[in-house]
Amino acid sequence: MQASGAFGSKGNLWQDTAVERITPDPLVALPDQVDLAVVGGGFTGLCAALEAARMGARVALFEATEIGHGGSGRNVGLVNAGLWLPPDEIIQKMGEETGPKLIAALGAAPDHVFSLIAREKIACEARRDGTLHCAHNASGFSDLQMRHRQGNRHGAPLQLLDGAEARRRTGSDAFAGALFDPRAGTIQPLSYARGLARAAQAAGAQIFVPIAVEDIRHDGTGWLVQTGQRAIKAKATLIATNAYHLAAFSGYRPSFIPVYYSQFATTPLPEDLRSSILSGGEGAWDTALVMSSFRMDAAGRLILGAIGNVEGRLGGNSHHAWAARKLAQTFPQLAGQGFSHIWQGRIAMTGDHIPKVRQIGPNGAAVFGYSGRGIGPGSVFGTAAARALLEGDQSAWPLPPVDHAPTRWARLRGAYYEIGAALGHATQNR
Ligand SMILES: Cc1cc2nc3c(=O)[nH]c(=O)nc-3n(C[C@H](O)[C@H](O)[C@H](O)COP(=O)(O)OP(=O)(O)OC[C@H]3O[C@@H](n4cnc5c(N)ncnc54)[C@H](O)[C@@H]3O)c2cc1C
Repeated sequence: MQASGAFGSKGNLWQDTAVERITPDPLVALPDQVDLAVVGGGFTGLCAALEAARMGARVALFEATEIGHGGSGRNVGLVNAGLWLPPDEIIQKMGEETGPKLIAALGAAPDHVFSLIAREKIACEARRDGTLHCAHNASGFSDLQMRHRQGNRHGAPLQLLDGAEARRRTGSDAFAGALFDPRAGTIQPLSYARGLARAAQAAGAQIFVPIAVEDIRHDGTGWLVQTGQRAIKAKATLIATNAYHLAAFSGYRPSFIPVYYSQFATTPLPEDLRSSILSGGEGAWDTALVMSSFRMDAAGRLILGAIGNVEGRLGGNSHHAWAARKLAQTFPQLAGQGFSHIWQGRIAMTGDHIPKVRQIGPNGAAVFGYSGRGIGPGSVFGTAAARALLEGDQSAWPLPPVDHAPTRWARLRGAYYEIGAALGHATQNR
């Protein structure tokens, strides 16, 4: 999707710099029956297709637009460990059995992502240099102290950095300290998605693009998967459409809070500027309520991101003006740098910020709601889905499937985030 509006049409950087490519399978090659039908060509669906094909299953994946069209091709590229929620809160919400299991599975998520990248030789600018969660003020630093204590108690090798060390690592005076997570890293997310698709095909999965699934239902003997052109049967099915779900399926309606996040990339910086910012290669984000993120890509572009829809009528202009101010405030050496790429994406947030596995019938599930942390979790849940759905092993999921996963007042709460971000950006540090 292209960014548009008063500031012109600049588009998604990842579309311009992705080097991985795939050739979709022709629809004539689609058999009448498969073992696993996957809807959605993002990290979740692609990891499921890859794992299932490696298990020897016949797999068909349908993507309505293009591989990585959803969050997987638009995100920041921070391969984080764990969820947004600190571990004690996860245990409080999920209980003493599931909580620690989920924390362990997602704590190891970067291991999973970087080993898939290495095993499948995916060219996606992968760097495992850690991430910095930066304190935007003293209360942000208290939050990091709490996360540091809890993380260490649960085995996460987090390091708390003081203001001087945060300044040295980020190249900015703006932060009161930072929490360093050496398990994490950064990638070019669209290239990772396409590389997973290529690997899934090589393992025997068929990938159909652009083919939208119009309905999925169980007829008592198996799943009927209806596309505009063909209907096929599947023993198992995974709906992996997250925040970009299209079509009204008989047995599944997604329920999440839509939260927009926009990104602004500079042109490649000259070497002296480039080496003054995040010289250790970390990805970073801050503790502010209207959160922002920053990272470099392989060519030395600084990519700034924040909650809010730069294409939205409400706050588009204020988000853009905020980005220029924020860049100059955080990195005065970059004041006046324009942005060569501007784009946005939609996050599926759940009410409790915990992802959901929704059982939609026998050997059928929908996975969604990573709440803005889906590179690691999407890869972990997608890989787990193959075993859970093909072998009927429910314990393969990082958390138990549920029959219903409603989020109350979802659209209203989405509007609340957008209005909050627009107001925050319009008034911040003027
Ligand atoms: C702007 C932004 C920044 C983010 N930053 C980060 C980050 O730095 N780190 C992190 O870990 N996570 C981040 N996330 C979250 C992460 O990108 C998502 O959680 C993850 O990509 C979800 O992957 P997915 O495969 O479940 O869904 P998606 O990648 O959204 O894929 C769903 C796909 O389903 C397809 N589809 C929908 N309906 C149909 C249909 N009927 N038939 C066929 N296909 C269909 C869509 O076209 C889409 O391609 C960010 C998200 C956004 C939007």
